Amino acid sequence: MIKAIKGVKDLLPEESPRWRFIEDTARRWALAYGFQEIRVPIFETTTLFARSIGTTTDIVEKEMYTFADRDGSSLTLRPEGTAGTVRAFIEHNRAADPRPQKYCYAGPMFRHERPQAGRLRQFHQFGVESFGLSDPRADIEVLSLLWRLLSDLTLPGLTLEINNLGYAEDRARYKPLLVAFLKTVESRLCGNCRRRIETNPLRVLDCKVPDCRAATEGAPCLGDSLSPAAQQHFERVTAGLQSIGIPFHVNPRLVRGLDYYCLTAFEVTCSHLGAQNAVGAGGRYDGLVEQLGGAAVPAVGFAVGLERIALMLPETFIVPSIPRVYVAAFGTQAADAGFVLLDELRRAGVPADMDFRSTSLKAHLRQADRLEALYTILLGDDEVAKGTATVRHMQTKAQEDVPIRDLVSLFRDRLLKR
Ligand code: ATP
Ligand code: MG
Repeated sequence: MIKAIKGVKDLLPEESPRWRFIEDTARRWALAYGFQEIRVPIFETTTLFARSIGTTTDIVEKEMYTFADRDGSSLTLRPEGTAGTVRAFIEHNRAADPRPQKYCYAGPMFRHERPQAGRLRQFHQFGVESFGLSDPRADIEVLSLLWRLLSDLTLPGLTLEINNLGYAEDRARYKPLLVAFLKTVESRLCGNCRRRIETNPLRVLDCKVPDCRAATEGAPCLGDSLSPAAQQHFERVTAGLQSIGIPFHVNPRLVRGLDYYCLTAFEVTCSHLGAQNAVGAGGRYDGLVEQLGGAAVPAVGFAVGLERIALMLPETFIVPSIPRVYVAAFGTQAADAGFVLLDELRRAGVPADMDFRSTSLKAHLRQADRLEALYTILLGDDEVAKGTATVRHMQTKAQEDVPIRDLVSLFRDRLLKR
């Protein structure tokens, strides 16, 4: 038997309403904030990700699904959504458009990770990117959207942590201080972190290994190396968050796994998720558009993981069912007449169904129950001859006789005009 690949998941029909609810909620909030949906390809040239995410990041070093195309060029399944969105922004010269360029997206991402609860190899993100705005209000807008939509999903135990990563020059000033410190505690660090001292020292601060965390307790603080401009930007972001009532904690250790962030960086965690507790993350990435060959366009964005949100949605979340009609047509002529009626109901926009395998009234009623139909139309050969069908309310069991030609308008009134 052929099975699905390790770390990928099928979304069965029972789960899809919950997913649709999450995606619809996210999209609705984003649209209300003026973000418009963009759909970019799920594969791109490998260089795009290497150049944007950074060659010394976990993603590029060991998590990408990279393969050779038939002409030998190297392609990669997207591990995140920002790089492709920035590429599209540049390629379509969106910087020339005077309107705000605020995009949202949803779709699958691919990373070769060790599969576990909330960590998959194909997973899904919803994200937003806001281009062209260096004003701290753009950071606040994105943070506010993130917080409001997660709150609207009634996710329990959320915490928003933010940090100031400063400008590239600030980090360049800080790096030697950090590296000098890390060398003094090198023997206490994990193998990965020992390597990172040279390649990506800031990431050591983000390591989840307890010994590394303890060893870096006394590390010099990035905050002390930041320029006045970087500090001012951050102060305006935190003041703005306070002014609109968004709760947050400043976490001086927070750095992101992708190289392109600057100034504001943030992460939302959930206390109900166990080890994989990050729900979403993002930040400002002012240098990325230029780095990928575009103009110097500032940008800020976030992405949330839909699998983790789905895990957190309270189990009691009830999907509102669509009121529908079941056509129980039994008998030779009634089966044909019922099929025509089914089509008329559907053309009128009335959700309607029938199980073509059922032939007896009893079998039809059983299926109507299983499909949670609100009404069943009982239609036998006698009813067809009389031109009248019986309409049964499936919860109250009340029945009424209705002329067949009136059925469509009856259900249009009852199910659609509510
Ligand atoms: P983590 O620290 O959990 O590895 P990350 O920093 O790699 O997260 P980002 O690249 O910032 O995550 O992606 C944003 C969100 O996407 C994460 O907060 C998480 O909810 C989700 N996500 C990331 N990787 C995975 C994965 N392999 N499986 C499921 N969801 C994921
Ligand atoms: Mg990761």
